[in-house]
Amino acid sequence: MKRLEKYGELNRQGLADFHAHTCYCDGDNTPAEMVRAAADKGLKAFGLSGHGYTPYDESYCMLQAEEAAYEAEVRALAEEYADRLEVLCGVEQDCLAGNPIRNWDYVIGSVHYIDCREQGGGIEVIDESRETWLNIADRYFDGDVYAMIEKYYETEAMVCEKTGADIIGHFDLITKYNTGGEGGNKGALFDESHPRYILAWQKAADKLMESGVPFEINTGGMSRGYRTDAYPAKPIRDYIAAHDGRFILSSDSHNTETLCRWFDRYHDEIKK
Ligand SMILES: [Zn+2]
Ligand SMILES: [Zn+2]
Repeated sequence: MKRLEKYGELNRQGLADFHAHTCYCDGDNTPAEMVRAAADKGLKAFGLSGHGYTPYDESYCMLQAEEAAYEAEVRALAEEYADRLEVLCGVEQDCLAGNPIRNWDYVIGSVHYIDCREQGGGIEVIDESRETWLNIADRYFDGDVYAMIEKYYETEAMVCEKTGADIIGHFDLITKYNTGGEGGNKGALFDESHPRYILAWQKAADKLMESGVPFEINTGGMSRGYRTDAYPAKPIRDYIAAHDGRFILSSDSHNTETLCRWFDRYHDEIKK
């Protein structure tokens, strides 16, 4: 699905942003506050993308009853702002939750969990903390972090077919806590130049590029101070660009301050 295709040029100019959260899930602000901030910033198109329901963890997502209220509120704002700003009502859908049941304007397909049930665990969250990340590797993959990462990218490879994504969310979120290591790509948790790591993400990228769905260049981790570069990392962006994959800029904002933040830094990379 390519429902956001027509906004490509606005997005490159930093005038359209489709990844933002509200207090309906784990964001700080109401939909009204977010939309007002987008209008004040001069955006021409703005999409809210609350976390869709994940039955295996209700701590980050909108509950199903809340999804209806969220949609009604965003639709009302779209009418109110129609002469200044196009407001879209989207969802960020976790891969393991499958297809969204509501008729959203667009879907960001993301992987925040890996299924460890065969390894004796549950559906485990990978972006909560460094400690939980390491705990999953220890308990379910015998400490083999690359086996855990392979599982992550196997899941990532299915994100378009499982969620009907219009945008591939933060492709390499598994690297979230891999900062602070010494020497190039040798991060604190694993080596991003390790052959097993590269093979894992390349397989997923190859599969997802067949879909034609754009990969996010997601600046949310920079805004929240986790990293100094966007998701995905530069070698992955270069690979996708070299294979004629597509990109969309996203701020993954959790408050009104960060809409379209850092987009100018990546303007040249997505010119094609
Ligand atoms: Zn996400
Ligand atoms: Zn998000």
